[in-house]
Amino acid sequence: MIAVEEALARILAAMPALPAETVGLREALGRVLAEPVIARLTQPPSAVSAMDGYAVRAEDVATASPGTPVTLRQIGEAPAGGAYGGTVGPGETVRIFTGGPLPEGADSIVIQENTASDGKNITILKPAPAGHYVRPEGLDFRAGEVGVAAGRRLTVRDVGLAAAMNVPWLRTRRRPRIAVLSTGDELVMPGEVVGPNQIIGSNGLSLAAFVEARGGEAMILGIAPDNIDALARLTSDTRGADLLVTTGGVSVGEHDLVREALGDQGFSLDFWKIAMRPGKPLLFGTVGDTPILGLPGNPVSSLVCAIVFLGPAIDAMQGLGQAPKPATAAVLGAPLGPNDRRQDYLRAQLTHDGDGRRVATPFDRQDSSMLATLAHADCLIVRPPQAPAAAAGDTVAIVPLAGGVIGI
Ligand code: AMP
Ligand code: MG
Repeated sequence: MIAVEEALARILAAMPALPAETVGLREALGRVLAEPVIARLTQPPSAVSAMDGYAVRAEDVATASPGTPVTLRQIGEAPAGGAYGGTVGPGETVRIFTGGPLPEGADSIVIQENTASDGKNITILKPAPAGHYVRPEGLDFRAGEVGVAAGRRLTVRDVGLAAAMNVPWLRTRRRPRIAVLSTGDELVMPGEVVGPNQIIGSNGLSLAAFVEARGGEAMILGIAPDNIDALARLTSDTRGADLLVTTGGVSVGEHDLVREALGDQGFSLDFWKIAMRPGKPLLFGTVGDTPILGLPGNPVSSLVCAIVFLGPAIDAMQGLGQAPKPATAAVLGAPLGPNDRRQDYLRAQLTHDGDGRRVATPFDRQDSSMLATLAHADCLIVRPPQAPAAAAGDTVAIVPLAGGVIGI
């Protein structure tokens, strides 16, 4: 039995970053940038107005006030996308709109609200110092500037910035292709007729959703019966997959056949037992070039192991560094007994106490078949091996479960 950290380190060591590919901006959200986004133009391309109003020479309107207004002659218009071709001279002004290019000669904008117009002459009621409401050329960014650094998972905001920088194609890491095979004679797919003593195999669907929420591409291989030949056949064809994930059939029951089935295919085993609960039986190794992660069958164990191991593996394949995540803490809402030598991940709900502190209260029952409590949990409380008994109010480490728009 090896520790969680060691298991994770061994898995990550076998997950080099995948090659880069070019994708259009429409497919870029959530992918990891392999090369930086570099601005192909300067924004704004020239000085423009930030408001609707009048482009003026600041010195012309320096003394303007409601009592002593300054009258200017309007000589043209500068809408967004159009420029006034001439020059603003003394006593002149150009009607300008938000985004309109600042005309030659003008250096300031008087907003519409501080003016009055008789259709030809414009009365200015307030001064506007040089640069007032002017967006200088390159205020947002300049051609050649890095907009988004390589190694970052692209957010909605990044997509907007890349678009503004006129970068319609990006170099991103290929999405990891993860094949998911469930095992078990008792399983049928959701929607199928459920016979006596059969249950729904939910792991394939939950793991595929997990993979996709994490930026991978999942292929559900279906359900393999607990029979060596069928398992061998189904696990032998991992063509095109960057990682094969199996669920079930990896503990010590006589129907736990995944290891045996892989044995005939030149399987090289790295480890298959970890000091963790839920999820002691966790198998990792390779067949040929394909790494294989054998997750436990119990639905909670398989998803918790996905959170702890599969997620970081998918990140690594996308070239995301494993920057240590800031430890998240909460106070315990109920006492816990001392822990044994396995690292515990307890499903818990989060509330806030009167001081605004987060309180994590574990569910009473933590059976690893209970998927409903996992779905209803807000976090997992992480208890290290041999942790002493803890009282309500003690601080504990947690893994929050809902992240971003698509929660895990
Ligand atoms: P195993 O690791 O194959 O012994 O499975 C452990 C438990 O998890 C058994 O009760 C299985 O019925 C259950 N199980 C295995 N695979 C799945 C699955 N895909 N969906 C739901 N339950 C499963
Ligand atoms: Mg089984």
